[in-house]
Amino acid sequence: MFLAPLVLAALPQLYSSFPEQDALSYIVDLDFDFDAQYVEASVEMRFQLLSPADRIVLHSIEDEKWEVQFQDSSGLSLETERRQGLLQVLLGKEFAKGAVVELHAKLAGTPPDGLYFEEGRHGDPVFFTDHFSSRARGWLPCEDHPSDRAKFSIRIQAPEGWEVIASGLDEDENGTWETQTDLPTYMLAFAAAPWGRIPEKGDDRFIPHFIYKKDKPRARLGLKHHAQWMSVMEGTFGPYEWEKYCVVQVPTRWGGMENAGNTWIMERLFDGRDRGVGTLAHEFVHMWFGNAVGYGEWHEAWLSEGFASYFGPWLHAQSGGAPLQRAMEGSRRRWLGSRCSETRPIRWEEFEAPDDFFGSSAPNTYQKGAWVLHMLRGEIGDEAFFEGIRKYYEETTPGIATTDQFAEVMEKSSGKELKWFFEQWLDRPGCPQLDIRWNADSVVVKQLQEDIFRFRLPLQWTNGEGEREKKFFEVSQREHVFQLKGEISAPTIDPDVELLFR
Ligand SMILES: [Zn+2]
Repeated sequence: MFLAPLVLAALPQLYSSFPEQDALSYIVDLDFDFDAQYVEASVEMRFQLLSPADRIVLHSIEDEKWEVQFQDSSGLSLETERRQGLLQVLLGKEFAKGAVVELHAKLAGTPPDGLYFEEGRHGDPVFFTDHFSSRARGWLPCEDHPSDRAKFSIRIQAPEGWEVIASGLDEDENGTWETQTDLPTYMLAFAAAPWGRIPEKGDDRFIPHFIYKKDKPRARLGLKHHAQWMSVMEGTFGPYEWEKYCVVQVPTRWGGMENAGNTWIMERLFDGRDRGVGTLAHEFVHMWFGNAVGYGEWHEAWLSEGFASYFGPWLHAQSGGAPLQRAMEGSRRRWLGSRCSETRPIRWEEFEAPDDFFGSSAPNTYQKGAWVLHMLRGEIGDEAFFEGIRKYYEETTPGIATTDQFAEVMEKSSGKELKWFFEQWLDRPGCPQLDIRWNADSVVVKQLQEDIFRFRLPLQWTNGEGEREKKFFEVSQREHVFQLKGEISAPTIDPDVELLFR
């Protein structure tokens, strides 16, 4: 087959980074006509070359209704080549390593993806981006990868009576929003709609939330914990990184999307009995984990979602939510019932598209990711755990981190060797499958799965004096026999929800 090698060589680049270049900034000037579903934008982008090159490579979706043209900084047209979802802008000559190249893009038409004209659930128009995970390229030719963070400036104007919200701050209130901390393209967000506003007290970084007018009464019931959460998060992990905070109700494809400083929330978030508070806590935690310190490779997404899925319920529990233990019970059940629990590790490198980590592999990325942190906390104790995570945040923010960096900080803070722990839980599918038999004065523990796990097994029983006794047993072999003192009764496995097992 003639085509096969070409396809194989080109496809992985669809979701990879381009290490020969570094995106520095994108300045977007955008106008739209909602009724005509028409966008016109000019984008000035700056790239630094990390090796000599005669082209800039961008992710970009080709569509007949979306016109994309490039010019250099003097207004000269630049040729482009398209192949397999990539767009190469030919610079006309080779530039040296270290050179900064400025490109101007003219965009016009109806964007094929990433930027949408939709009708909200009460019939109002909503114009909004929804970039996660790899949809910024649907309208903006860019390096669409979490490892390449850049500054963004967006000028956008909306019709009378509409509100506009975007990443960064609109300092002069002239419609130009600028980010102060670099963002990956997936975290860039802007939207315009005739929302109502709901202020939330307690912190002057909060700006009034953007909520459909008809949903304001119920939204008010959920939007009241952010000041408390801000002080808990800053007190525990370190300073909030972003210029502002608010949530924005849009027809997003996600339940919530943690755009830095302006979280998108799904339309029906406030309909449920808990008014979406659990999701709001999860998204708020992302401002620290996922955003201020993010990941540079898709298979490391647990560094974002695992953290939000653990500290979200932890934060929620401090403002009237269910105890963390109950949340962990629920996430264990959910993960055990998923297909990916036995077939893929958390850090799964054979994925086809980044969305896999948030779709078919979501129980690994979210629930098992949360369990890794929960068990790490049990392994090293509260003090080393929280001190380590604070240190990790301090050392890596703002920017991206790797699991190896995280593991190293946690080893230092606990004084324990933990490579086996991270390898076992992150790079191996499954969990211990246990067969536990209780005898009169001993307990026999067998691991039934193929690869042996190492873990602390919490057991509880009533002893000869009629008292409840709980102990952790170090398990690292196929079979153990643990002697217990005296007659035992009413044995319980993992009474406090501390182990991921089957
Ligand atoms: Zn999340």
